[in-house]
Amino acid sequence: HVYLDNAATTPMHPDVVAAMTEQMNADFGNASSTHYFGRQAHAALDHARQTLATALHTTTDNIVFTGGATESNNTAIIRTAYARREQGMHIITSAIEHLSVLNPLRRLEQEGFRVTYLPVDANGEISMSDFDAALDDETTLVTLMWGNNEVGSRMPIDKVGARLRSHQAWFHVDATQAFGLADINPQALGINMLSASAHKLNGPKGVGVLYRDDTVHFTPFLLGGEQETKRRAGTENVPGIVGFGAAVARLDNAAKAALTTRYEGFTKQITTALTDEDVEFHVNGNLTHDRLPHVLNLWFPGVSTYALQTNLDLAGFAVSGGSACTAGSLEPSHVLTAMFGADSPRIAESIRISFGTVTTSEDIAAFSAALIKAVNRLRARAATK
Ligand code: PLP
Repeated sequence: HVYLDNAATTPMHPDVVAAMTEQMNADFGNASSTHYFGRQAHAALDHARQTLATALHTTTDNIVFTGGATESNNTAIIRTAYARREQGMHIITSAIEHLSVLNPLRRLEQEGFRVTYLPVDANGEISMSDFDAALDDETTLVTLMWGNNEVGSRMPIDKVGARLRSHQAWFHVDATQAFGLADINPQALGINMLSASAHKLNGPKGVGVLYRDDTVHFTPFLLGGEQETKRRAGTENVPGIVGFGAAVARLDNAAKAALTTRYEGFTKQITTALTDEDVEFHVNGNLTHDRLPHVLNLWFPGVSTYALQTNLDLAGFAVSGGSACTAGSLEPSHVLTAMFGADSPRIAESIRISFGTVTTSEDIAAFSAALIKAVNRLRARAATK
């Protein structure tokens, strides 16, 4: 079986597994204990924190480990909204954020906060004029994703960051899909808070980070002990955090750039194969300018997502019909809906292919052949009905 659903999650790298195994076997102590075992665990935490800080061009005091990007997003959004209530109750986001951003915002709306969901165009991109029109004196938070997990489109993070330098609103970025591929410098971009997750970059599940700079002050979500310098209570998931550190340490900027080039090549390989065989398809999103290189979302008119995904699965290829979270729920993708409207056939006739570090050009060649075969077969079947 070939795994092409790396935007959902990625396999752990053997180096990560080794680092975690070592941690679990030898250094199992509670990082808060003052004896030898505790100190060992604490040193491992410090090491991972330094790795994350270096990757984000910052210092260790801005790094808080969490139980994943969902927790980081919930914390950044809900705690900021409450902490800054006196300054205003308006929040700006986009219509295509991950549900771990949209659902906390819906909760805040029920509590009386005002939320602007910026619309996106057919490329999955917002416009700065919509952003400027939405920003007002009561805006205390802007939360946008670095890049979209379903279609790979980018948000204008640098432009928004620049606008907010002279505004009271804090800027939160969900960089979950990008952290393993882009060199991210929050401070240079005017980002105050940033979320990422280990399992999207060959690390373990259930561990993430919330970067927050020193303008950000709020009380923690989880109350209890004084872990994470009183910003996130609970005994630290030391093996998970060590795994996160090991995963991040593997990806220096040269490695990230090499992966980007490889994934762009895979995209070209698939689209060229389809074009050469005269298979009608359309890209959901853009292939021409700044995007997340590992996500390719394609519409095959007349071919149902479910049938195509199932056919490919039987042929040994795992792709997604959208995001993993919405795929199980039969809800139409809110991302494709925002891009093309609720009536668009694309919503029920698209698949997401996402590449990872272990994807090879041979995988992509075999996948392209299987894809062409499956689409042709399903179209022929539809034609004879
Ligand atoms: N944000 C984005 C853009 C994602 O793709 C995901 C992935 O599921 C998440 C947040 C949630 O991350 P986690 O699974 O670590 O909670």
